[in-house]
Amino acid sequence: MNEDCIFCKIVSGEIATKKVYEDEDLLAFEDINPQAPIHILIIPKHHIQHLDAASDEQKELLGKMLLVARDIARQKEVAEKGYRLVLNTNPASGQEVYHLHLHLLGGRRFTWPPG
Ligand code: AMP
Ligand code: ZN
Repeated sequence: MNEDCIFCKIVSGEIATKKVYEDEDLLAFEDINPQAPIHILIIPKHHIQHLDAASDEQKELLGKMLLVARDIARQKEVAEKGYRLVLNTNPASGQEVYHLHLHLLGGRRFTWPPG
């Protein structure tokens, strides 16, 4: 656990969230400032700064994040219509919270290229 990390505090229960999914490795919860009708963050419980700090040994964990996103998208009934996954990495991407997280966005149409 990283003492200064808000997502570590969410994992420990120090900060409350609306939980969507939890297992021994991962937690998913609703984004506090949603950018779409469905906006869920999927995070590893273990603190990893961002994708560039992830190691090859974490490939199962990283794969699991995608599969959990797939399952939540199905549960929220956006899988068929479509949804977007976003994984910001470092400042140029707009990353604000330096604890790895996958955004699952759905329930509206998204444009390309992204802003
Ligand atoms: P990023 O810009 O990719 O680092 O995204 C960080 C996301 O975390 C933003 O979408 C924020 O709205 C979200 N966020 C920050 N604090 C909280 C919180 N306490 N609970 C839920 N989501 C949060
Ligand atoms: Zn953390």
